Amino acid sequence: MAEPTEAPASAPPDEEKGPSKRALEKAAKKAAAKAKKAEHALRPKEPSKPAEKKPANAEPANVFSEGWLKRVYEEKPAKEVRSRFPPEPNGYLHIGHCKAIAVNFGFARHHEGVCFLRYDDTNPEKEEEQYFTSILDIIKWLGFEPYKITYSSDNFDKLYELAEQLIEKDGAYVCHCSREEVNMQRGGPDNRGARYACEHRTRPIAESIAEFRAMRNGKYKAGEAYLRMKQSLTDPNEGNPQMWDLPAYRVIEKNHHHRTGEKWRIYPTYDFTHCICDALEGITHSLCTTEFQQSRISYDWLLEQLDMKVPKSEEKGPMQREYGRLNLGGTILSKRRILMLVEGTTAEKKNAEGTVEKRTIPPSVRGWDDPRLYTLVALRRRGIPAKALLNFVEELGVNDALTEIQPPRLESSIRKHLERTVARQMLVLDPIKVIIEDFAAEDDQEITVPYDPKGTIPGERKVKLGKEAYIDRTDFREEDDPNYFRLAPNKVVGLYNVPFPIRATSYSKDENGRVTEIKAVKASGEKPKTYIQWVDAATAVPVKARQYNFLFKSESPNALDWKTGGWADDLNPESEVIFENAVIEAGIKGLLKEHTLNPSGSSDDLIRFQALRTAYFCVDVDSTEDKIVLNQIVTLREDKAK
Ligand code: ATP
Ligand code: MG
Repeated sequence: MAEPTEAPASAPPDEEKGPSKRALEKAAKKAAAKAKKAEHALRPKEPSKPAEKKPANAEPANVFSEGWLKRVYEEKPAKEVRSRFPPEPNGYLHIGHCKAIAVNFGFARHHEGVCFLRYDDTNPEKEEEQYFTSILDIIKWLGFEPYKITYSSDNFDKLYELAEQLIEKDGAYVCHCSREEVNMQRGGPDNRGARYACEHRTRPIAESIAEFRAMRNGKYKAGEAYLRMKQSLTDPNEGNPQMWDLPAYRVIEKNHHHRTGEKWRIYPTYDFTHCICDALEGITHSLCTTEFQQSRISYDWLLEQLDMKVPKSEEKGPMQREYGRLNLGGTILSKRRILMLVEGTTAEKKNAEGTVEKRTIPPSVRGWDDPRLYTLVALRRRGIPAKALLNFVEELGVNDALTEIQPPRLESSIRKHLERTVARQMLVLDPIKVIIEDFAAEDDQEITVPYDPKGTIPGERKVKLGKEAYIDRTDFREEDDPNYFRLAPNKVVGLYNVPFPIRATSYSKDENGRVTEIKAVKASGEKPKTYIQWVDAATAVPVKARQYNFLFKSESPNALDWKTGGWADDLNPESEVIFENAVIEAGIKGLLKEHTLNPSGSSDDLIRFQALRTAYFCVDVDSTEDKIVLNQIVTLREDKAK
């Protein structure tokens, strides 16, 4: 959905007429405190319970039958719940939207109601077809099905008609003031001065109607005229800027709309559109994030003016309530910034001599679904199961507080899910061949190994044992050490599921000093200090494995210099580490047979597994017949070094 009026989205596009951000924030805080107080008074007191200690692996509480969302329902216990998810189709959805989807679709599902997917397509300058498709795709992937797919633009005719009605009721007027003038009328830069009306506010209704039609018919350029709601601009008791004569319609010159073509030159703002669309669709619970808290007043005001407001105790008539956003630190979620990462950009910077230096920054990721991003398409491609994301949102809970999370918290939640759901495999990222010199004919066998040693995941696979095997370079050392338990000359190590441990006898190196091969013998009867993963050389499947780290070196990339391109210097060169020559046990072929490779569409049928002692991986869609490509989903445990 579009931003509330303070953002350019709903103000005239190049003439932002809203009050200053600082004033809005201040007023927002005040309004929120007031609302909280009032709400607190109305809220049924929850009996104080002794704090229960939950077992660590307890399922999260159902966010719909308890707490904040339960109270929202109790405020308006509609028999037929109707909710909506209203994205602005101007970018790919990100992890925060997962919460919005879970809340809106989940609320309807919980109450056996319905949820609309409404594309809030009131800004033709920013919309693109690819975004529409991807949004629906992601909703389905998360396991939800919209009751109906609607567009704000479905209602453009009706909205226009209602705008004229509002003017007729003396509830709106066409204004020609500049942005500076409007800011002055709203109390000046800090909004502390006196507020006053402009001459247009009192113009005759008929004149506003005529001017509004002239706007529609193309008489005005962007910013020369706009329709303003007649709220409580001059009322000294009105502290909420959302009541200071918000814009309702503006002229957009680059007006080609994907659904209505060139029909409209004027487009309704968020504040005008959203509540009306909610009412027209019969939405009962309009759940949005807290930055719209202040907008609740204008939402209700407009519906009342248009006689579309039904008291909240009755079945019909929408009720807006606001929950806290889910923000993820350590990464970039802003659409504009992700676009720079995806497409590359040019930045300009003045140097010490005052001349402008131009800098071309190439793309830093492969696309919107690059696994290093936190868009939902990227998370899906990285192999994160939809269910793990939904569990994550549930675990965090839903109320009116902002949830600020760092990636490790998300990763631990994903791990918890994968731990219980995916098969184990043996993968060697950086292989060195080990030759077991006394490997005998009777050692040549196929062992049956369960997919999960704990037995949680059903199934088993065959693991071939041969004379030559690969182990990981990091599991061998040329010089032994008493605190080192893996393979070294004359040292014994266990190989998972192999009936005998091995002892290294010698090794060879290439001209660069890299170990190329290790010779070993069986060490039957000896007790190894540890076991390592290995892959039979004769049946090994070559794979390319991609490991992911943070895209930026800084922990708060949002604080980097996004104006003059400084962010590009903070990119982590290790954000993707590729192991071109990795090998995996032949069992992967069995997993491949049971699945499809296509991560798009509504399917969550990705192949995921835990590579023992390594990380969780999934099979990427880049895979071909000849070469499997793996993405690291998450590490096995939190990397404390980070
Ligand atoms: P962004 O500005 O972060 O790109 P947006 O607010 O422009 O996101 P919309 O398309 O307007 O995205 O959002 C659709 C719905 O998702 C809205 O109801 C919005 O409140 C909600 N939403 C957006 N971001 C978050 C978030 N971080 N956490 C929870 N809900 C969110
Ligand atoms: Mg938005």
